Amino acid sequence: MKICIAGAGIGGLTAALSLHAAGFADVEVLEAVKDIREIGVGVNLPPHAVRELVELGLGDHLSQIGLPTAELCYHDREGQLIWAETRGLAAGYRWPQYSVHRGRLQQLLLSAVTDRLGPGAVRTGKRATGVTQQADGVSLSVVDTQTGSEEQVQADVLIGADGIRSAVRTSLYGRPIPLASNGWVMYRGATPFKAFRGGHTMVIVGDEAQRIVVYPIDDGTLNWLLVRPIPTDERPLAELGNWNRRVDPSVIAAHVADWSFDWLDIPELVSSTAVAYEYPMADIDPLPKWSFGRVTLLGDAAHAMYPFGSNGASQAILDARVLAYELARHADPVEGLRTYETARREQVAKVQLANRQQAGDVMARVGALSRSQAHGAAMEELKAVEQRYKSLAGFDVATLNERPSWTVSP
Ligand SMILES: Cc1cc2nc3c(=O)[nH]c(=O)nc-3n(C[C@H](O)[C@H](O)[C@H](O)COP(=O)(O)OP(=O)(O)OC[C@H]3O[C@@H](n4cnc5c(N)ncnc54)[C@H](O)[C@@H]3O)c2cc1C
Repeated sequence: MKICIAGAGIGGLTAALSLHAAGFADVEVLEAVKDIREIGVGVNLPPHAVRELVELGLGDHLSQIGLPTAELCYHDREGQLIWAETRGLAAGYRWPQYSVHRGRLQQLLLSAVTDRLGPGAVRTGKRATGVTQQADGVSLSVVDTQTGSEEQVQADVLIGADGIRSAVRTSLYGRPIPLASNGWVMYRGATPFKAFRGGHTMVIVGDEAQRIVVYPIDDGTLNWLLVRPIPTDERPLAELGNWNRRVDPSVIAAHVADWSFDWLDIPELVSSTAVAYEYPMADIDPLPKWSFGRVTLLGDAAHAMYPFGSNGASQAILDARVLAYELARHADPVEGLRTYETARREQVAKVQLANRQQAGDVMARVGALSRSQAHGAAMEELKAVEQRYKSLAGFDVATLNERPSWTVSP
């Protein structure tokens, strides 16, 4: 059976590895970008995602490029600690939580795909533009981004892993699915900076007016991301779904000028960053359907979500593993894609909606409590939210530790 994947992001590459591990030898990935480079800054991988990468045999490599996250701390806008909890192995999981440079993770997955599936398994500079299907196969229209030449790629199954502005999704639905914005912008960067709180902590500082997340992604580098409402008088932002528009770090540093604490100098961190990016926050409404006959969606193409809660990449990794598991269990690929959707779609929709709430209501409630010095109540609120979120996203400690594996013996 030939399986074609559109998109060599974290989702598409993990799908290729998962399918190969499940016994599918003929897998081809088509990626629009010609040179897959180490762009992007940090991403955090909680233990449910790490488990899947470990079960794909990537645990040692991951430990070389990732830094274990052992603690998550919430501080109010004055810098006062509201709540801290352990994370990863320290919290009793069987797998660590890692902070990692997103581009290095993508390169790790890419080299595993070419090692295992062969150097021709990923073809770059190939943009998917549309899909047609017959009873016994799929035809994907592809344009070469260098020459403009077109080809039709035939496959038995097609996986649209082509990100938040998925062309495969547009073709399946017959129209572009609109991106939604919550009116917030995220600024982000990574820079050499001295460690804080022992070097394995993720901190969140702020309230509903603005908040910053800071964590180390290797021994000498801190990753940060500041979210705040889009100022009405500002120049036009990047278009929704674009992660790569650069912005002057000194403009962002002005927003955090008051946040210099004895444990972390946030203005200094931001202003010493060489390259910062802006990302107007975007997601899509939960989709009513992912699988259409022999074609399905995965990762951001299926469920782009606000980047709160460290779950965009993680849910894509889970999709990939479940998809391979279900395709291997069903002789009929259409049935395999249907059961994949049943296992994942409604569950991930809850994570998408929870991320919307994290961005708004939760920080407003916690912020109001901490401003009125009710830090105990703010802590209880955060604790409850985190626990609920872990269950929704699939990383409640007991459930994750005990859940059967999605590894398939070919
Ligand atoms: C450049 C970039 C930077 C990011 N930075 C961060 C970050 O800092 N923090 C964070 O939490 N998340 C970030 N994300 C998003 C995060 O990586 C995703 O939410 C998550 O990994 C889901 O991955 P995905 O593979 O579904 O989608 P993506 O990571 O978006 O990958 C989709 C892939 O498909 C390719 N593609 C797009 N259209 C086509 C097409 N028509 N034909 C063929 N290929 C196509 C894209 O080039 C890309 O390689 C970033 C994404 C990108 C693309």
